[in-house]
Amino acid sequence: MCGIFGYSGTKECNDLIFQGLKRLEYRGYDSWGMAVLQGKKIHQYKDVGEIQGSAKLEKLPKGNIGIGHTRWATHGGVTKTNTHPHISTSGDFTLAQNGIVENFDELKQKLIKEGVKFISQTDTEVIVRLIERELKKRSLKDAIIHVFKKLKGRNTVVVLSNNDGKIYAVRNGSPLVIGVAKDGTYLASDTLSFSLATNKAILLENYDMVEIDGKSIEIFNILENRKKNVNTKELKHQFTQIEKGKFEHFMLKEIVDQKETLLFATEYTEKDLEPLIKEIKKGKRVYLIGAGTAGFSAGQVAYFLRNIAHIDAQEIRSYEFKAYLPIVKKGDIVIAFSQSGETADTIEAIEHMKEKGCKVASLVNMYGTAMSRLSDYEYYTNSGPEICVASTKVFTAQCAWGYLLSMSIAGKYRKARMNIKELSKDIAKLFTKKSFDEIKRVAEYMAKRESAFILGKGENAYIAFEGALKIKEISYKHVEGFAAGELKHGVIALIEKGSVVFGIIPSSESEDSSDLISAMEQVKTRGAFTVGIGSKEFSKMDLFDRYIVTEQVDNVSSISNAIPFQLISYFLSVRLGNNVDKPRNLAKSVTVK
Ligand code: GLU
Repeated sequence: MCGIFGYSGTKECNDLIFQGLKRLEYRGYDSWGMAVLQGKKIHQYKDVGEIQGSAKLEKLPKGNIGIGHTRWATHGGVTKTNTHPHISTSGDFTLAQNGIVENFDELKQKLIKEGVKFISQTDTEVIVRLIERELKKRSLKDAIIHVFKKLKGRNTVVVLSNNDGKIYAVRNGSPLVIGVAKDGTYLASDTLSFSLATNKAILLENYDMVEIDGKSIEIFNILENRKKNVNTKELKHQFTQIEKGKFEHFMLKEIVDQKETLLFATEYTEKDLEPLIKEIKKGKRVYLIGAGTAGFSAGQVAYFLRNIAHIDAQEIRSYEFKAYLPIVKKGDIVIAFSQSGETADTIEAIEHMKEKGCKVASLVNMYGTAMSRLSDYEYYTNSGPEICVASTKVFTAQCAWGYLLSMSIAGKYRKARMNIKELSKDIAKLFTKKSFDEIKRVAEYMAKRESAFILGKGENAYIAFEGALKIKEISYKHVEGFAAGELKHGVIALIEKGSVVFGIIPSSESEDSSDLISAMEQVKTRGAFTVGIGSKEFSKMDLFDRYIVTEQVDNVSSISNAIPFQLISYFLSVRLGNNVDKPRNLAKSVTVK
């Protein structure tokens, strides 16, 4: 969701900002713009749609200081007028915002009564007009502080000023990090966007205001009203590569990456996990939280914790945390999952659960993010940049990390490492031409259908939910995942001749396998097109119209069962001609509520 990028230094910044915005585009956006200071004048360029260097952008005068923004519209349509940055009437400053001004209407109505005219439909323009009004009484810096304090919601605001040639930025809730390089200072929504220039970052707290002019960086907390020391942190893991390589889409690359990323997520030693395990063993309840795909990995990890480590573990969708708050107690533990580490719903849940006295651990893929900073124990999936909006490798990495944690609590750390190694080798069998051809055949059948159902049970229930979400996100088909037991209680009413039903079939060692087989028999009898995913033992049964074999590794096959659904989603969407890496309406990093 929205990206902010800024630079002040010795380099010419037009291309730097343009490239920075390109590296932020994975977050999801619908329009983009940039502003550059040349001499005493601010020049702007805005465009709707893809970030591409048109001839017009080349005409933008070159400078050494500027800001850029990718917008994911929340207030006001996707138009050039609504695109950021929004320049002041006098042209003295220009502003870009990430987030939502929740009280924008109240503020706007007051301004309208005073006779202020609005050009755009955005909540952002309210900030610009309020600052303009304050400028009659105070300096730009003080005006920004004054106005920012009036804003409700999670916001980051960045302002380029022509008077003093400075960039000011303030954050509350929504992301902002500073990159300190030899050539100057970078300012962005994530560390990935400036990682080619530097791995030295300054992580800002809520209500920190940063003031940069290329030579100096000043940080000032506007709530505490005090100047802060500038602490630069060296980021250990740095992402420099964002390449598709030989793949046509990032999604396919990221699916195939899983051979390695499962291992990267589980490189933690017993010692690394020990502090969290100690906390968990104190015997309080563990809440696993996340939203979207990360909500499903939270569910899967809760399953592992309960069934492998016998821990009282409860999954919660971040946005539903309030329904559980009355029973959350001091000493309970929260493990929060997110790819971006900036998911607004999850951050809000963490904040409330911390207030209740919970200890918080987080597992995220990006470095220097709000969630890690809020956590007592920070862990990383270390999967490298995940550019496709639909998460694949980070989902399985989150599950694998949770498996390692659960097995370690049960005293089986080494066995877990061995199993994951075996798993990562085995999944490579899904990435062959033969396997792709088989999956394409299933996708071809689905292309002609409007909906599909996925049945799982026990260790595969959350895999069914995630499989359905994956296919929905990119193919726009209506797919529902169910616990197989649900079938006869209602879902079966939807089954008719030709309905596509997937069953995730564990090995016969699991009691769940016979339940899955019965469920699939019941839908087959009603004319369903049946696809089995799982243990080879059942692959030749007449029951199945198609069967995709996944290797069964001890108690962790569920992770490999997720992969065929990712591939089906991919091939189906390619077949339908959809924008695979950037599905409609979705954003990678969901920083608004
Ligand atoms: N609320 C602002 C808008 O709709 C900013 C959205 C964003 O974060 O991109 O323009």
